[in-house]
Amino acid sequence: MQVTEATLASMKPDPQILDHRRTSADFAAARPCIALLPLGATEQHGAHLPCGTDTFQVSYLADEIARAYPEPVWRLPTIPITVSHMHRGSPGTVWLTNATLTALVKDMVLSLRHEGITRVVVLNGHGGNFVVRPIIQDLNRDYDDLRVILLEASTGERVFEEPPGSIHAGESETSRMLHVAPDLVRMDLAVDTDVPYTQSYLLYAPIARLEPSGVWGHATAATAEKGRRYHELYVPAAVASIQRTFAALDALPGGPTHGTAGPEPR
Ligand SMILES: [Zn+2]
Repeated sequence: MQVTEATLASMKPDPQILDHRRTSADFAAARPCIALLPLGATEQHGAHLPCGTDTFQVSYLADEIARAYPEPVWRLPTIPITVSHMHRGSPGTVWLTNATLTALVKDMVLSLRHEGITRVVVLNGHGGNFVVRPIIQDLNRDYDDLRVILLEASTGERVFEEPPGSIHAGESETSRMLHVAPDLVRMDLAVDTDVPYTQSYLLYAPIARLEPSGVWGHATAATAEKGRRYHELYVPAAVASIQRTFAALDALPGGPTHGTAGPEPR
């Protein structure tokens, strides 16, 4: 199945997904206790992947997690623009500042809280959103009734063979896109790079200066089968991780909570 954010609005509501295609009466009947907030991005992904790669990938994951979760989840619309200024200077890139994303996530979480939803899963589809951790930590510090947890969309070590630290538009992202939206992938333009910097260098300089191709990994090794396998492993692990993390937080002896959830390796 292929899902893109651009087509979501025109699709009929999916009875298995409680999202913005549903009516207020549907929400009143379902009474969701958990919200899932996917963070995408709009930024260069080399010559072979669309600028909306992170948005398409995280939207797909959010749909699949919402379908698989054993109770109703308010699957929020994917935020398509986040902190991508490490891709500045590359056409097709647009970003928020860290301060703006902080305000955006905080406003959304607090409006959910106002409406009685105090468990929020932030599904981060963009590795450049370094600020998402302090945002979540601050929200949990300031509101004892909130449980805001983090789920990262990229945990591909068991499926992909490119070197650790291959963080952008390489084997992992390209394989996932070949599974999610193959028509948007130009494998004839895929390249491999071995960037001699760690991810920390994104704090210091834009990718355009660190690696002019914009690719940080081995894109030519990508296959749709690897992408399919990744999602097959990821979705149940993500569901289990969300359940486990909320249960663990609930079992804590009072006081503020904070936490990071991520699928456990198997
Ligand atoms: Zn990406």
